[in-house]
Amino acid sequence: MTLTKNIEEVVLFDVHEIRKDFPILSREVNDKPLIYFDNGATTQKPRQVIDAIVKYYTMQNANIHRGVHRMSQDATDEYENARITVQKHIGAKHENEIIFTRGTTDSINLVATAFGKKYVNVGDEIIVSEMEHHSNILPWQQLCEEKNAVLKVIPITDSGELRMDEYKKLLSEKTKLIAITHVSNTLGTVNPVKEMIAIAHSKSIPVLVDGAQSIPHLKVDVQDLDADFYCFSGHKVYAPTGVGILYGKEEWLKKLPNYQVGGGTIKTVSFNKSEYAESPLRFEAGTPNIEGAIGLAVALDYINALGLKNIAAYEDELLEYATEKLSALDNLQIIGTAKEKASVISFVVEGIHPLDIGILLDAQGVAIRTGHHCTQPIMAHYQIQGTIRASFSFYNTKEEIDIFANAIVKSIKRINQK
Ligand code: PLP
Repeated sequence: MTLTKNIEEVVLFDVHEIRKDFPILSREVNDKPLIYFDNGATTQKPRQVIDAIVKYYTMQNANIHRGVHRMSQDATDEYENARITVQKHIGAKHENEIIFTRGTTDSINLVATAFGKKYVNVGDEIIVSEMEHHSNILPWQQLCEEKNAVLKVIPITDSGELRMDEYKKLLSEKTKLIAITHVSNTLGTVNPVKEMIAIAHSKSIPVLVDGAQSIPHLKVDVQDLDADFYCFSGHKVYAPTGVGILYGKEEWLKKLPNYQVGGGTIKTVSFNKSEYAESPLRFEAGTPNIEGAIGLAVALDYINALGLKNIAAYEDELLEYATEKLSALDNLQIIGTAKEKASVISFVVEGIHPLDIGILLDAQGVAIRTGHHCTQPIMAHYQIQGTIRASFSFYNTKEEIDIFANAIVKSIKRINQK
């Protein structure tokens, strides 16, 4: 990884140097150089993260928190240091506010189950939005079904922005929690979560932010947002799969009942009564994904070295470039044209199924995502079956976008020739 300074003293990175950190980017797919535009689904891993995992299993593997031997203590230190890295990265006040989970879905299920058990009753309301990923709908829907509570939905506009007027109208004394995505994985919309949280807090309603798609693109400061809960997945931010984070304000974590219980969550156990540990260990039952946590810390160090401002500026440039290129293509319609967007473009081509384009793009070495992207309510809003989605990372280039745009044109021609 190299950083170079330009005349205005803004640190810019050299994308071709950065790409060397990601071994997978030099492979071929279908005899074509890989163009990886499926970063919204999962990101590729830099050598630094891969090396950390190899080192862990080569030299350090041991279970944590329980061993007196040296390797166990070293593994515990690395795991707990990873927690501090995450704490600093998202600006949490205390390290005990950082819970390691399996990912965003697991984090949301934890809150829905634990919060729901204690705070949601018959007739209460939970608010989500029309642009949520299924992972931020289903746990709440299930909770509402179990408790005879009501799931309320903030509608979106046709450009893919939240209807803030409707949001305000939905809030009432029945509202127990608002669960909202920071960035839409399908539309790319960056939601005004700070403003939404302030509005919710003026009525003493807590807010959970699904940060799965904001953590790779934006500088997130949970204290500045004043989020009560913030969730994300390691694999979407250049770290391994199977590890994620639930941030919860200390005051909330203290009040939440247990989620899963088992080894690691206790102070003492007896058949009469068991005593539980404090957060975060109370919420981390069983042996966690130790190498995942270590890999996550390395990934966060990696993006911090690049600079989150640099990443955001470069990805914005890619988004703008791709939007211009795709807008110029006949019969192509971009779905999601919010003013504030992260580097995600969804589109449809008139008369052609997204899957057909996806298959032909794959034949040309371009990996994109097609379908509903686990956001079927968005598809219902636009009355479409699915979209083609390209999601860019800081290791992508404008040259790749040129090839992608040409590959779309070729694919459309081929389908129309049949
Ligand atoms: N929320 C959003 C906005 C997402 O984009 C995703 C994954 O695509 C998820 C939640 C679920 O993440 P995971 O599958 O890593 O738990």
